[in-house]
Amino acid sequence: MPKANKNVNFGYYSGWMVSKNTWIINFMDGSQNIYLLEGDQAAMLIDTGYGQGNLRAYVEKLTDKPVIVVNTHFHLDHYGGNAEWEKVYVADQWEKDATPGYQENDQNFPHPDYERVIVGDGFEFDLGGRVIRVLRAKVAHCNSSLFFYDAGNNMLFSGDEFESGQTLMFLGEPNTLKERLKNMRENAERLYALCDEHTLVLPNHNGAPIAREYFLDYIGLVDSIFRGNAEIEDDLNHKYINEMPGHEKYCRVRFGGASIFADKEEVLEAAKA
Ligand SMILES: [Zn+2]
Repeated sequence: MPKANKNVNFGYYSGWMVSKNTWIINFMDGSQNIYLLEGDQAAMLIDTGYGQGNLRAYVEKLTDKPVIVVNTHFHLDHYGGNAEWEKVYVADQWEKDATPGYQENDQNFPHPDYERVIVGDGFEFDLGGRVIRVLRAKVAHCNSSLFFYDAGNNMLFSGDEFESGQTLMFLGEPNTLKERLKNMRENAERLYALCDEHTLVLPNHNGAPIAREYFLDYIGLVDSIFRGNAEIEDDLNHKYINEMPGHEKYCRVRFGGASIFADKEEVLEAAKA
């Protein structure tokens, strides 16, 4: 039995079927969602949580199909349990987002040398009667984000690039915030065009689903920063980030239902020229 990551105490998994053959697995004190999609021949697990352990056993209670494991991006709260499986599909540039010492986390699990297979824009996973298309995100929240689009079921998985609550925009070095905001705007335009009023947009944190209008709010948010009239709040009002060392330099910027966290000086810099 895999050992739990001793550095993590985010609780246990619970899940529910959000629609036919689609489960939300809830984790991290309720703040994170992992998704499990089932087709006729295979299932797909979108993200593996923080490495709490026993995710594979939990997933195998929900489905008896072979499970294809993918990561929306390579942040530790999304890839922490990868080494419970033999193979995981990830984006290029995953190394840039991996936590230093990430292999130590993998040693807790049965497959510390699991295979990483790079997939990019347009790649399709055929689960049997259910095709999931990959969209490669432009660098915004991080370097290694993928979106997953299930056209047949009208579901779009937005990872951490478009969270419910706020999107964290301070982790994407070496690009400047201005470049990443432009990319965020392009990502939002692309996803908005894919969606209709029935699309379930499913993010990984802080609740799901979100409405497609949310993408328009993100476009408005980026434009407000570039125009220099963004609503900037110094209080982040966030349970985990308020405990991070150095959080004082970050601010929240809001527009409609969208908001981001970013370095305040970088936000003010992005407004220039
Ligand atoms: Zn992330």
